[in-house]
Amino acid sequence: MTIRDVASFAAGEWVASGAGARSVASAVTGEVIARAGNDDLDVAAMLDHARRVGGTALRAMTFHQRAKMLKALGQHLGRHKQELYDLSFDTGATQGDHAYDIDGGIGTLMVFASKGRRELPDGHVYLDGEVEQFSKHGTFLGQHICTPLQGVAVHINAFNFPVWGMLEKLAPTLLAGVPAIVKPATATCYVTEHCVRLMVDSGLLPEGAVQLVTGGIGDMLDRLTSQDVVSFTGSAATARKLRGTPAILDNSVRFVAEQDSLNASILGPDVTPETPEFDLFVKEVTREMTTKAGQKCTAIRRILVPAAQLGAVQEAISAKLAKVVVGDPQAEGTRMGALVSRAQRADVLDKIASFGDEVTRVFGDPDTFEVNGADRDKGAFLPPMLFRCDDPDSAQRVHDTEAFGPVSTIMPYRDLAHAIALANRGDGSLVASVITHDPEVAREVVLGAASHHGRLYFNDRSSMKESTGHGSPLPHMIHGGPGRAGGGEEMGGIRGVMHYMQRTAIQGSPAILAAIGQKWVPGATEVTGPAHPFTRKYGELAIGETLHTAPREITLDDIAHFAEFTGDTFYAHMDEDAAARNPFFPGRVAHGYLLLSFAAGLFVEPNEGPVLANTGLDSLRFMKPVQAGDSIAVRLTVKQKTGRTDEYGEVRWHVTLTNQDGDKVAEYELLTMNAY
Ligand code: NAP
Repeated sequence: MTIRDVASFAAGEWVASGAGARSVASAVTGEVIARAGNDDLDVAAMLDHARRVGGTALRAMTFHQRAKMLKALGQHLGRHKQELYDLSFDTGATQGDHAYDIDGGIGTLMVFASKGRRELPDGHVYLDGEVEQFSKHGTFLGQHICTPLQGVAVHINAFNFPVWGMLEKLAPTLLAGVPAIVKPATATCYVTEHCVRLMVDSGLLPEGAVQLVTGGIGDMLDRLTSQDVVSFTGSAATARKLRGTPAILDNSVRFVAEQDSLNASILGPDVTPETPEFDLFVKEVTREMTTKAGQKCTAIRRILVPAAQLGAVQEAISAKLAKVVVGDPQAEGTRMGALVSRAQRADVLDKIASFGDEVTRVFGDPDTFEVNGADRDKGAFLPPMLFRCDDPDSAQRVHDTEAFGPVSTIMPYRDLAHAIALANRGDGSLVASVITHDPEVAREVVLGAASHHGRLYFNDRSSMKESTGHGSPLPHMIHGGPGRAGGGEEMGGIRGVMHYMQRTAIQGSPAILAAIGQKWVPGATEVTGPAHPFTRKYGELAIGETLHTAPREITLDDIAHFAEFTGDTFYAHMDEDAAARNPFFPGRVAHGYLLLSFAAGLFVEPNEGPVLANTGLDSLRFMKPVQAGDSIAVRLTVKQKTGRTDEYGEVRWHVTLTNQDGDKVAEYELLTMNAY
């Protein structure tokens, strides 16, 4: 059998393994299948290449261009995923596991691509929050903005998700406009390497945007600056060591850590074997114990059940685990594959042994179990193992020792407060789940436990069909947790992109702020276009282009007609005396919606043209009542433009209605889709 050479991708070149290379064995057969690492890799040149070439190219692109690149990358990987599946079997993963790692990784790219197009501007500066006004006349304003760091993101990843673990970090990093150097765990780096090859060969990435180190990273961390970020996933011990690198401490290098976690799942006190939540709980627990052979950072390690249900739950989980066929991931019938290596298997057995007399093993015997289609003594196989801890208050190891394999411990609780206290004994976790049909139980858990967990997952009969699973981090939601979980936060939609950007407070005049953010700010320069703005195509409209309409007087007949026509005969529009008794009105007033309708009548250009549709209003405020005899005029200004498709883009208009005295009576943002 040929041994695969796992290369690194450095400064645009593939560098074969060399001095100091490590051997990688198949999780299934134990045979050496690959060699990875090269001590002669020039990591200084890699950092320089990323910062100088990759960063410059990425920052020249807009958020939308980078989002489109992610989408194209996702589509490209999707077309080649069979190659990744084929390679991944040797990591011990089953076809079912590939759905989390490979399909999940590609899906994450796609979600960030779509969120990037919808939630970020087609520009270079992200505006964080609204304009802050600190002066009376609005001539000096504040705005928070985010721009990409001008360094490099070093991603150090764990072995269990060679594809997802890379892509969930690459997506927000590249979307932010920051280049990355990926260092996968050696045990599964051959899968990551192939995925990087696919991305590089696609030609979709700018030069220097992504590089790869297989094996050791040399003195790379000693060379990091304040513009760089380290995103680490792995054990707490490695995180502690790397966090302490002097250059990281001295230069305040951002260090995001995702570590191990003693995640808990709580069976609600309201659940009994007769309710649908009972089976749901058993299903979630067994799935978490066996997916990826339990090598998931989010796997359920502690199963907390009401004392009265302990026996029933233990029996039901054991019965389900008895059906799990362990073996070669490619052999017919296998449900759970191997651990990643014999070393990992030995580590799990050591950790279990350290539980001592805190636990009793109630299911699974590592010395006597069947292996389907493979040699038990050569591959890294273990059966799913369920332990019971009868006295979780006095126990310690079950709350602080992560056996990173198909291992979980069931323990009883007295009441919900006790369950919460036990869940929090993990000292900070990535996720805790609660299977309950009682919203009050959910609320109590949040108040008592949210501070200790990065994610709380509730499930019951009403959400179970569509729920995504206790152990699945979603690109839309944050992944990370406090305390021993590492204190880090990844993904969470656009929040994850911000980890690779610098937030800066900008202060200045409206014109300065408008130019920086490419978003018109009241008080900034108004531009008069050559024609009515509704006759101008998306590309022709300038930020700040403004239309001032002629005034229109509001009559009592208008108000009465509108009331009768729409059915809105609210007393403030109909009854002079009743309206006057209301503290907000001087007397009978025009409907707010009448003003909006008249405003549209004042500013629209009726003929067929580039405005395709009105898609909504934002931030509508009625500021001063309008009575019969008053008149209104409209100022319509192009505030912001956001490309949507190749055919049209969204125009956000700032609309202000003023009365005959120049007082604002209403203000809002109008959204239209305009043809290019
Ligand atoms: P690990 O041994 O801590 O290794 C993690 C990564 O650090 C690997 O890429 C490893 O590379 C690298 N590394 C180790 N020493 C290094 C050094 N001196 N300099 C630079 N890099 C170094 O963890 P693991 O065994 O791969 O992963 C299992 C652990 O990760 C479990 O505890 C699990 O809970 C945790 N995990 C957490 C999450 C999460 O999101 N929170 C996700 C998955 C896994 P080599 O492989 O080359 O040594």
